[in-house]
Amino acid sequence: MNELNNLKPINEWFKKLDSRPIIISGPCSAESEEQVLNTARQLKEIDQVKIFRAGIWKPRTRPNTFEGRGDDALHWLNQVKLETGLLTTVEVASPKHVEMCLRHNVDILWIGARTTSNPFSIQELASALQGMNVPVMIKNPLNPDINLWIGALERINKAGISKLAAIHRGFYPFEQTSLRNIPKWEIPIELKSRFHNLPMICDPSHIAGDRRYIQQISQKALDLNMDGLMIESHCNPEEALSDMEQQLIPSELNTILNSLICRLSIK
Ligand code: PEP
Ligand code: MN
Repeated sequence: MNELNNLKPINEWFKKLDSRPIIISGPCSAESEEQVLNTARQLKEIDQVKIFRAGIWKPRTRPNTFEGRGDDALHWLNQVKLETGLLTTVEVASPKHVEMCLRHNVDILWIGARTTSNPFSIQELASALQGMNVPVMIKNPLNPDINLWIGALERINKAGISKLAAIHRGFYPFEQTSLRNIPKWEIPIELKSRFHNLPMICDPSHIAGDRRYIQQISQKALDLNMDGLMIESHCNPEEALSDMEQQLIPSELNTILNSLICRLSIK
């Protein structure tokens, strides 16, 4: 049974999102006001980039690593909106995150892979989102379980969220592979075939784990007619506090975007 109701295409979420594919970019983590604004100012110069991403509360695998700047960074993102006109998106993993993001006018929320893996967390987020009109993007769970992904989409949709998208970020590989996460393209393809109206965004950065592979993974996603790309960028990746190897400087991102062939693009 296919149960996602009243889904709205991304170009109806905001007026600014009038082109396909939708390009989302920004740092893995918001690290400082300077890093956030410096990155955003450079991204603003790239026409295709419409949405600025940044993690504020970071779900790190091990303790004693950088866990994000927390609430303070919400002010920096507001500054990004005011200065560049880019829309903003932040990862939320708890009702408190949802409340803080909505209070500080974050435009779009996304749910990370670790959170999607836990139906209790998703249900708590669904309760916090009840009756809110905010767009939500849901990453696939860490393990290649399509039903867990669908379940998260259904729970959030049942809370009344109709501006809903899926983000494909690949699946945890048990063996050593050249990519950080295995794409298993058949899973997003199946999701798309079951929910024709569900926008599908690809996150080549977390699939690749290495900036050298981002172009080819992005092209593959476009060849599969995905609706957008979420690609991490940083004004100085060498000093990034998380996901250093996969972040691009904005000029590299621009080169990659210009090289992509969007065969099925519909304006
Ligand atoms: C991220 O987008 O920086 C992130 C933590 O991603 P994921 O949930 O896909 O691991
Ligand atoms: Mn990251």
